Amino acid sequence: MDNKIIDGKAVSEQIKKEIAAEVADMIDHGIAAPHLAAVIVGEDGASKTYVASKEKACHSVGMTSSVYRLPESTTEKEMLDMVEFLNNDPEIDGYIIQLPLPKHIDENKVINAIKPSKDVDGFTSVNAGRMQLGHPCFIPATPNGIMELIKRSGVETVGKNVVVLGRSNIVGTPMAILMSRKGIDATVTMCHSRTKNLPEIARQADILIAAIGKQGFVTADMVKPGAVVIDVGIHRIEDASSPKGYKIMGDVDYDEVYKVASKITPVPGGVGPMTIVSLLQNTLKAAKGEVYPK
Ligand code: NAP
Repeated sequence: MDNKIIDGKAVSEQIKKEIAAEVADMIDHGIAAPHLAAVIVGEDGASKTYVASKEKACHSVGMTSSVYRLPESTTEKEMLDMVEFLNNDPEIDGYIIQLPLPKHIDENKVINAIKPSKDVDGFTSVNAGRMQLGHPCFIPATPNGIMELIKRSGVETVGKNVVVLGRSNIVGTPMAILMSRKGIDATVTMCHSRTKNLPEIARQADILIAAIGKQGFVTADMVKPGAVVIDVGIHRIEDASSPKGYKIMGDVDYDEVYKVASKITPVPGGVGPMTIVSLLQNTLKAAKGEVYPK
């Protein structure tokens, strides 16, 4: 592949091989394969797709996976009971609650009932707080995957200007924290919907990370020539010419930005595959007791 393109698919395949080797070694030593569970509530199509791909990824590296499918009518109490059951099941190393939950369930309450040592999505306040302080923790999969992609693609970060577009708890905010950590040492600006002169700020970026959820938002005139561009966005766009009837596009106007960037992640095949692999990395860490002692 063209060396301007940061190939998340290839990097994620390499990491999967590394994980599979570790899992095989555990099994050879009589240790149970890491076990990731997922809870999905209701019939949301995108959620079902995500959970299916997580399940498939688990199997591809020799991990065990289980999926608990609950009806849309599940009550908050039933959800909390499920969380308690998973917290106490010694065979499950880590689990995720696929979001969004139905509106009648308080997501925060459910997420924060997850035992931090099994919170492989890194969404509990405990793991978020530990990340903020630089303590051992589970880092949310997408920002963790981006950090791994940046490191493995040889992108220099020390002293660089990083602009993060978006401040969500699962992408933008952790991304900004991680990029400013000692050892990474970037200077970070985080933008959101109330930011003034966003294009001007974006143009200062040596590394521009787009996580705003607006298809094609980042245009070539917002990118400094030679910048590295990381596109987190996922948008399913109708496309009659594609066999699936849709194509996946990002937050970046890829064709135009490609011409000015020094490196860029494609969509699909950039950040997406790294997100799933990060979840597997967190599950492996959970099984080995690397973040919290077993
Ligand atoms: P989100 O929770 O909707 O957050 C979007 C952020 O972008 C918010 O902070 C919002 O600002 C900001 N924003 C929205 N419109 C803006 C505008 N016009 N100008 C400046 N800032 C704007 O989204 P998210 O969960 O972080 O996800 C972002 C994108 O990444 C989505 O396309 C999502 O599908 C994708 N995603 C991909 C992966 C992956 O694996 N590749 C994983 C997670 C998410 P305010 O805070 O001011 O509202």
